[in-house]
Amino acid sequence: MEKKLQGQIAIITGASSGIGAGVAKSLAVAGATVVINHPVAATKPAADAVLAEIITAGGTGISYQCDVSKEDEVVKMFSDVVAQFGTVDILVNNAGLQRDSPFTEMTLEQWNFVIGVNLTGQFLCAREAIKEFLRRGVVAERSSAAGKIICMSSVHEVIPWAGHANYAASKGGIMLMMKSIAQEFAPKKIRINSICPGAIQTPINKAAWDTPQALQSLLTLIPYQRIGQPDDIGKAAVWLASDDSDYITGASIFIDGGMTLYPGFSTNG
Ligand code: NAD
Repeated sequence: MEKKLQGQIAIITGASSGIGAGVAKSLAVAGATVVINHPVAATKPAADAVLAEIITAGGTGISYQCDVSKEDEVVKMFSDVVAQFGTVDILVNNAGLQRDSPFTEMTLEQWNFVIGVNLTGQFLCAREAIKEFLRRGVVAERSSAAGKIICMSSVHEVIPWAGHANYAASKGGIMLMMKSIAQEFAPKKIRINSICPGAIQTPINKAAWDTPQALQSLLTLIPYQRIGQPDDIGKAAVWLASDDSDYITGASIFIDGGMTLYPGFSTNG
């Protein structure tokens, strides 16, 4: 199989589980050296297990602890990766979490925590990645672009979500941050896009699929009638990081089995 990301260095944030782990495996199969970011000491074993699987399959990479909401840690992660591997070609801004609450009971801590990881974390990582892309510029043997960023957004960048105002606000914020920096850096050959997953089977939404009743209820929101898998996102991430998508920047790509098609209208109106 042609390795479309051969020789490129990719940082994937929040890659010790779920979508991030799936994306890291897919990028590694495509030839990228992957940095499996995870937030705290407790997530190191899971990150190392993802790395071990990648190495067994013939890939290369490291695991790296960094809380993406902390500026000093993000700056250090990028400088350490550049010191070890020479540069960074691809950033997958994936780390994210939920702290759900009815709006009038939502604490400032719940609000700030979600915005801090989901939105500020993406800002900090994108800023450091773009500085490195600008420093290096285009190296034709690596890629037609000076660098690629994939922001993990959500269908909730467009679908309102009662009880999850902090999460939906973080994803709506990602949409316009992504488009604004895509506009700013397109002339420098930096491509920035978002993937907007629907329901993907991961720890973040376990309650929505771990009983037959919950899954049945979830499927009423998915016209394609199956829950998504991390691999569905991984395949798209490889394409978005490769020169096959060289003319695409500033796009939100929905991978959701039709969740954004207003399925409630299929039998109404
Ligand atoms: P997950 O809980 O398995 O993964 C989230 C990862 O982020 C975890 O590995 C966690 O350790 C990491 N993380 C949390 N805080 C961090 C921090 N401060 N620094 C670094 N890493 C941190 O869930 P997932 O479903 O794989 O979620 C991945 C991304 O996909 C998130 O941004 C989420 O919002 C988005 N998403 C998921 C779904 C879905 O259905 N699963 C749908 C839409 C969007």
